[in-house]
This record gives sequence, structure tokens and C-alpha cells, in this order.
Amino acid sequence: MAVKTLKDLELKDQRVLVRVDFNVPIKDGLLGDDTRIQGALPTIRYILDQGPRSLILMSHLGRPKGERKSELSLAPVAQRLAELLDRPVEMAPDCIGPEVEAEVDELEQGGVLLLENLRFHGGETANDPDFVSALAKLGDVYVNDAFGTAHRAHASTEGIAKLLPAAAGFLIEKEVRFFEHLLTKPEKPFVAIIGGAKVSTKIGVLENLLDKVDALVIGGAMAYTFLSVQGHKVGKSLVEREYLKTAESLLQKAEKSGVQIVLPVDHMAGSEFDEHTDPVYVDNNELDDGLIGMDIGIKTLELLKGLISTAKTLVWNGPMGVFEFENFAKGTLEVAEMVARCEGTTVVGGGDSVAAVNKFGFADRIDHVSTGGGAGLEFLEGKRLPGIAVLEK
Ligand code: AMP
Repeated sequence: MAVKTLKDLELKDQRVLVRVDFNVPIKDGLLGDDTRIQGALPTIRYILDQGPRSLILMSHLGRPKGERKSELSLAPVAQRLAELLDRPVEMAPDCIGPEVEAEVDELEQGGVLLLENLRFHGGETANDPDFVSALAKLGDVYVNDAFGTAHRAHASTEGIAKLLPAAAGFLIEKEVRFFEHLLTKPEKPFVAIIGGAKVSTKIGVLENLLDKVDALVIGGAMAYTFLSVQGHKVGKSLVEREYLKTAESLLQKAEKSGVQIVLPVDHMAGSEFDEHTDPVYVDNNELDDGLIGMDIGIKTLELLKGLISTAKTLVWNGPMGVFEFENFAKGTLEVAEMVARCEGTTVVGGGDSVAAVNKFGFADRIDHVSTGGGAGLEFLEGKRLPGIAVLEK
């Protein structure tokens, strides 16, 4: 699947309507981390360099659920964007309607306008045709650069791409390139490391990757459901009873197809799920009744080191333990470092593993750090993302 890109669109003298992901943290009117705004700059600058009539930006922020909520206004973003671009960015009073249309008309040549939060209107998430048409009036061509919402068929991600000439911005183009590479032509050995809290949210990914990878590492809390299937004692660790059968069948499929499943062989555990619980090292896969497994141990890390260092393609999604607790962060930290050192093609996705590589400062040594948690997961599940399917060539 190839998507249309910025190079496929005529941008000169056009009103270019761009869906970006400006869903940034804002508290008491003050903008926090602006990584997402920075991420959109290459696409924005490229469009401005092509001499468009105007650039109209649109995004959602938080979950106002179809109501106007002043604390979820994008106004602070317009300000920050103006500083970053070193040019004026107008803030629209809304995202559709006659007043906004007039502002678009009145923009000076090459002017930039940020529309107000799309989700102040219920029509955005409902992909309501009237709302889609109202948005489409504001542009001549459409660009989607918001990967984080590409798995949703919303008005600004899917509906509108059917009404205007449409293409992907640089961020989505890169996401598609890396995920497609993983799923269709990975160089071998291909290693997937999947962690996090729940089998239920990752099972689609595990199943889809099973016939593509050489080794599948299962870490985090998920590992205990699998260890439990294998008859190990998992103490008070998180086990999803309703997924025991699914886990068992995945293990059987892997065995049949010769895929190596790597589960932890030792653990850091604690008696309470609490930041201050005393860490207890368990040298094997038999956890006492009172213990909760909260991180992988050093023997497991040694095992992963060999696998990760020789991988030609690697994807990592989900932490190896409760990395938010200092005493149980080592497994995730060390895996982040191993992934950063891996010389193959490396992709990290999912909110927590991305947070981990950022927190530990490894992001710039990873080939692709995905900008969308849910969207990345659905890609790995092999699903067609509606916001990307409409941009296909
Ligand atoms: P996910 O959103 O599914 O990627 O899960 C991320 C969450 O999994 C993080 O908040 C981790 O603290 C949690 N997690 C990882 N390992 C464990 C574990 N062994 N027990 C409980 N929670 C865990």
C-alpha cells in the first residue's frame, strides 16, 4: 500500500487544509510539552515553501465531547506555533461556519490560520456529512499529518479526504513507510518485543506478528498469563484468566511454525503493587504466593541482549515492567538501550515504550519512534486504518 504524499499535490496558490495532531498538554491556559507541534513543522514549512494561497490547520484537543470548553481551546497552540515558525498564526473563533469562512477569505497571501478544536462539534467524531462539507469549504486540497487519529474514521481524518484532493504529510508518510516495511518485507532475523499490561489489548498484535517474526518476546504483565499456561507459579501477578486459552493456542501455533517465543526466566517482584514495596529478586519462574512480578530480571535481560543485538528488524511495543516505579524500571530501561544500540531497522510504538525511550534519552538512536499509540497498534494488528486507506494511491 502506497499513500499519496505532499509531492503528489499541487499546492501553489491553493488553500491547503491540514489535519495535524496538536493534542498537546495544556494546563490553566499554559502549554506544556510541545513535541507534537514541533513534529508538524516539516510538513508545515514544506507547504509554506510551495507558495500556497493559505495554510489552514486543524486539530482536536482532549475530549470536549461536542461541547465548547474554553480550557480546551487551541489558542495557546497558535501562539507557540507562531513563535516556532517566526510568522503570524491567526486563531479562528471556531472550526466551521460563515465567520471562519470569512477569515479564510481575508487571510493575506500565504497566511496561516489555526481552526478551533474540531471536537467542539459532535460532527467531527460522528463523521457527519454536513460537518465534513462545512470543513471542506475551507480548503482546496487536504493533507493529513495526524497519525495518532488515523485509526479513527472521523470527519477531519476520513470524511474530508473523500471530498478534496488528499495526501499524507511527512509524519504519516514516515509511519506508513516503517510499519509497511515491518509487515511486508522485514529483513531477517525479525524480532518483536511486546510488553505492557494486558494480553487483551495486544493479542491482535501477537497473532498478526506470529507468522512474520523469527522471535517474539513477551514481557510486562502479559508474560504472567503465558507463564501460567505453562504451569508456572505466578503468585499474585496479573493474570487474565479469560485469555488463558488464547495464550495457550498462541504458544501452540508458535511451536508449529517454529517461531521462538521468549518469556521471562527471572523476575523482580514485590509483595504489594506499590512504588515503595521492597523489590525481591526471583531467580526462576516460580513466584511465591505473596509476590507480584513487576519487572524482568537480569538473566532475562541477558537473553534479550543476544536476540536484540543480532536483529535486522526490530519492533518494540509496551514496557517490560512497571517502569513508572523506580525499583522496577530497570528491565524497560535496559531494553530501551539495547534497542537504541541495535543496528537493524528499529521501530518503537505505543505510548509507554515511546515515553520510556524519550525519558531515558534514546529516541534519536531509534529509526522510527511512532507518534500514535492506538494507531500503531492497529497497524501492527494488520488492520487498515481508515484515515490512511483514503490516502492510498
Ligand atoms: P500498555 O498500555 O498495555 O502498554 O501497558 C503499560 C502499562 O503496563 C504500564 O503502566 C506498566 O506499569 C504496566 N505493566 C508492565 N509490566 C507490568 C507488571 N508486571 N505488572 C503490572 N503492570 C505492568
